[in-house]
Amino acid sequence: MAVLVCGGAGYIGSHTVRQLLKAGEEVIIADNLSKGHRAAINPDVKFYECDIRDKGALKKIFAENKIEAVFHFAAYIEAGESVELPLKYFNNNVYGMQILLEAMTECGIDKIIFSSTAAVYGEPEKIPIAEDDATFPVNPYGDSKLIMEIMMRRVSAAQGVRFVSLRYFNASGASEDGSIGEDHHPETHLIPLVLQVPLGKRDHITIFGNDYPTPDGTCIRDYIHVLDLADAHICALNYLRGGGASNFFNLGSGQGFSVKEIIDAAEKVTGQKIKKELGARRAGDPARLIASSDKARKILKWAPQFDDIEKIISTAWNWHTSHPNGYGD
Ligand code: UDP
Repeated sequence: MAVLVCGGAGYIGSHTVRQLLKAGEEVIIADNLSKGHRAAINPDVKFYECDIRDKGALKKIFAENKIEAVFHFAAYIEAGESVELPLKYFNNNVYGMQILLEAMTECGIDKIIFSSTAAVYGEPEKIPIAEDDATFPVNPYGDSKLIMEIMMRRVSAAQGVRFVSLRYFNASGASEDGSIGEDHHPETHLIPLVLQVPLGKRDHITIFGNDYPTPDGTCIRDYIHVLDLADAHICALNYLRGGGASNFFNLGSGQGFSVKEIIDAAEKVTGQKIKKELGARRAGDPARLIASSDKARKILKWAPQFDDIEKIISTAWNWHTSHPNGYGD
């Protein structure tokens, strides 16, 4: 039987496809290519160009292939944009989940592994954040992911679909051979933006606020390598195969780095001085987000391999220097 990866042409989806293939899984990709890249799709994988909101297209995939489980990466991810355009996020993310769950239940597909986010917690009540801490998202993106989790939970209880929801902290880095990596339009994430300075594509990096209650005043985040995230999906699949109950897991390194520390690490990796300027705070940015991933380590038997921030940044640097224009599409 195969697994269906919705959003398999995107950043985390494409790295997960790679790890799934490495683990010997049969993989099928569905992606509408609105954010994903055709060049990120492994040529040996069967690909359906379709939208998650198109139930007919999903049911056709389920009819034409024996699908054991669905991996759901096909969602919008920009917190800032979601504040301006909440309905865009509720349509693609929430309504998309509605259609996917309808298609799955109508076709008897009973396992789903879902890309959730630390954004479901909003401003955390304590650090490190555990899965049963309060969830109060501070933007519509976080809302949409929390609603998607609730939908899976209710459908799981009523109709027997089992899910694993993986709450990612800050996904970063790229495949070690530099063949696939991060390519967002527009790019909003710190590490790729910092690396655009030594690449000559950006004059400076703007630090969004230095008056947070952190040691150097800049925001602290938990950066986790994209291949470690990908591996967690395989652990989640095996957990569900072993009869595991529906569950939520944080995925982070457990270590926090400030914006300034990331810029310093990028200077070491690239061997270049990176010009920085101070800007205003970005709306909705919590001061500190650090995961406790003890639950994933214990229950999913997940063991992240990348524990060094310079190593993580060096894989991103390798990707960006070999693909200065990303996938070029
Ligand atoms: N950040 C920054 N300058 C930028 C982009 C991001 O100072 O040009 C900060 C941002 O405010 C946050 C951290 O870097 O504190 C990580 O931001 P990113 O967008 O990468 O991830 P997020 O934590 O928002 O998911």
